[in-house]
Formats: sequence, structure tokens, C-alpha cells
Amino acid sequence: MTHRDAARAEALYSRVRVCTLCALSRTRQHAVPGEGPLDAEIMLIGEAPGANEDKQGRPFVGQAGQFLEELLAAAELRRDEVYICNVLKCRPPGNRDPLPDEIACCKDYLDEQMEIVDPPVVVTLGRYSMARWFPQQTISRIHGRFRILGGRYYVPMYHPAAALHQQSLRDVILEDFRALPAILQAARAERIISGPPRVSVSKPSNESSAAAAALPPIDEPEPSSPAPAKQVRLFE
Ligand code: URA
Repeated sequence: MTHRDAARAEALYSRVRVCTLCALSRTRQHAVPGEGPLDAEIMLIGEAPGANEDKQGRPFVGQAGQFLEELLAAAELRRDEVYICNVLKCRPPGNRDPLPDEIACCKDYLDEQMEIVDPPVVVTLGRYSMARWFPQQTISRIHGRFRILGGRYYVPMYHPAAALHQQSLRDVILEDFRALPAILQAARAERIISGPPRVSVSKPSNESSAAAAALPPIDEPEPSSPAPAKQVRLFE
């Protein structure tokens, strides 16, 4: 991370806080730009701020945020090690689903965050975040697996709030987060191969579990048996 990145992020956050591009600016208390180290290796992208986030101007500070911290612990990560933001920077009234024009208005902000942080791994939380990189997919089919685009690993996960409302998903999400360290190792190795590394790299300790999490090609039918070990680069 450079001083330039920090200045660029601050300028971006300032613009988000006073943004009036869509009607959500009229009902919000606070815009929620996002937070975390600008050299984070993992960026988590949620859907939109809820009531607590709207009050505090910070992402994932309510019940879903508490659970997210538990999930991160399962991945041997702390909240202050990852970058957290949302597709929408302002709360939709009554926590309704984001509208297409709201997502479009916020897109440049998210794009710039990804450019600044440039994480080797992006974790999408829930279907609105997933939709951009996994069009036509369903979360129940692809959760916890990954695809590689432009050298970056994208990992779709269920939204933590889903587990709050559906107890049976709790174990599934926890299991998916437990696989994150191996995926991160594979993503670090990918950066070594395809460009200058931004982080020090050790040999992936668990390549096979990362490979097992690779998605089958989007246009091909789901394999009937578990994915073979070497499927990591299928999407490049
Ligand atoms: N849900 C989200 O998607 N984002 C938040 O910041 C909080 C809850």
C-alpha cells in the first residue's frame, strides 16, 4: 500500500459519504463506504448496509457482522486483516433487495475499491454480490468454490444473514470459510506465476483442497463425481 492508495481511498470514501447518485441518499443516515487494510489479501463484498450499518456508517456491525467474525475465525482470519464493503453503499429502506439502477449507480465505487486494494481473493456474500462474477449461477450450486478471472480468485459464499435465519446453513457456511486459507494460498501462487507478488509467499500447504473447490466450467454440466484434483485454472 502506498500513500497514493491511502489518499485515493480517503477521496473515494468522502465522495461516497456525500453521494446523491440515487434515491437511497434521501433515506440514509450514513453512507457506508467500506473499511479495512488497503493491502488486504481478501476482500469481502456484501449486499447493502442494514439498519445498524446505516446508523454507524460501517459495514457488517450488526448480528450478521458478529457471525461474519465467527466465520473469519474459522478461516483463521481476523476482521482487521480483511477488507469489507458492499455492493450498495447506502441502506435500502426496510432492507429491501437492491434495485438494478442502485447497483449501477454504486458500481464505479466498488470498481475503484477493487482497483485500490487489488486483492488476490474476493469473497462474495449473498446473491447480489455473486451475480456480477457468476451470472446465471445459483448460490446453492457453487457456494464455497472458486473461479479465476484476471488472476484473481472469486469465491461465492452464502450471506451470513442467511445463516441467522436458516440454522441448517450455519454448518455449510462455516465449512466453506474453513477452505479459505487453502484458496488464498493457491491465489498467492497464481500471482507469483502471472505477475509480481504483492505479498511474501510460502508454498501452498493444502493445494488439493483448493483444487477441489474449483468450479466446473460454467457452460459444462456438473460432473457426476467429485472434481478431479487439477481443476484450478479452468476459467482463465
Ligand atoms: N448485510 C450486508 O450485506 N452488508 C452489511 O454491511 C450488513 C449486513
